[in-house]
Amino acid sequence: MDLIDQHGRVVRDLRISVTDRCNFRCTYCMPAEGMTWLDRSEVLTFEEIERVSRLCVERFGINSLRLTGGEPTVRAHLPRLITQLAALRLADGSKPDIALTTNGATLRNIAGELRDAGLDRINVSLDSLRADRFLAMTRRDELDNVLAGIAEAKEAGFSLIKVNAVVERGANDDEILDMARYGRDNGLEVRFIEFMPLDASNIWERNKVVTQDEIVSVISAEFPLEIVPARGAAPADRWRYVDGKGTVGVIPSVSKPFCADCDRVRLTSDGQFRTCLFATDEFDIRALLRNGGTDDDIANLIVHAVGTKWAGHQINQVNFIRPNRSMSQIGG
Ligand code: SAM
Ligand code: SF4
Repeated sequence: MDLIDQHGRVVRDLRISVTDRCNFRCTYCMPAEGMTWLDRSEVLTFEEIERVSRLCVERFGINSLRLTGGEPTVRAHLPRLITQLAALRLADGSKPDIALTTNGATLRNIAGELRDAGLDRINVSLDSLRADRFLAMTRRDELDNVLAGIAEAKEAGFSLIKVNAVVERGANDDEILDMARYGRDNGLEVRFIEFMPLDASNIWERNKVVTQDEIVSVISAEFPLEIVPARGAAPADRWRYVDGKGTVGVIPSVSKPFCADCDRVRLTSDGQFRTCLFATDEFDIRALLRNGGTDDDIANLIVHAVGTKWAGHQINQVNFIRPNRSMSQIGG
């Protein structure tokens, strides 16, 4: 049975946060200090994550599982979870696509292991190619490790690695072209992300958002672009470089919300089911998992939650209310 919300959208993608912790402190995501972490007992076990994922894949035809966080690679034994998820099968016998979003700091050590475990795709976050600025934005001196991690991931056999770059006006917007060039030269799809009001420190302001139109006009002035039609449910609009040197994307969450095509739902690391990054409601799957809930009970809660999915987020409305958890607590 497909999971269809009241606006006719079919859910196909489950984003699973495996931890709220992180080895970075990106300014647009977390404060330098003072985050309150979940107690380990609050975080879902791999068996609990697998149980929810199995239901979503086998019963609801969800064909894409993406691991995120916090920083998913700080969760011990992550490859074991990937092996468990990679063993799931859709009703037609096919394997769900398993993807990971990571800051890349430890990829150089684990890319091969992740690949062997059954991971299909990797997105690496990288906002600057300048060491001093990378340090300022992430509060960690890890640029070389991240670049080496991306190289190692290619070596390990991951193809079309995507590089996510949040663009914040006044912080790194003068690097758009350098980042685009880096993607072209290294066979990577760079995806620029508009800064969203989901940071824990509340530093987001509308004038810090560099819009898709601005980003595309900067890139196309140097490297002519043509739009890749049919974005489908993916969050990024994509362009092809006219000279054939790959593609580039922009995720325009603020300036051009893509909610009408959204096929995503989320499971937080403490087992709360969410239908949108910006949702203000959560549904407590962990309580069912830990109090004898049956698969039908969990499935019913998921169906109910999806039924409440709203048509679109409210960032651009005067009545916009931030969710009470930030990006790393929800799972970006
Ligand atoms: N730690 C991993 C990473 O950074 O890739 C995964 C979790 S992180 C929350 C997922 C994505 O959200 C990253 O690409 C990050 O850059 C992005 N992100 C975090 N805070 C953001 C914000 N306020 N606006 C837009 N994107 C944000
Ligand atoms: Fe950590 Fe990712 Fe947030 Fe940066 S964006 S602080 S790497 S969770």
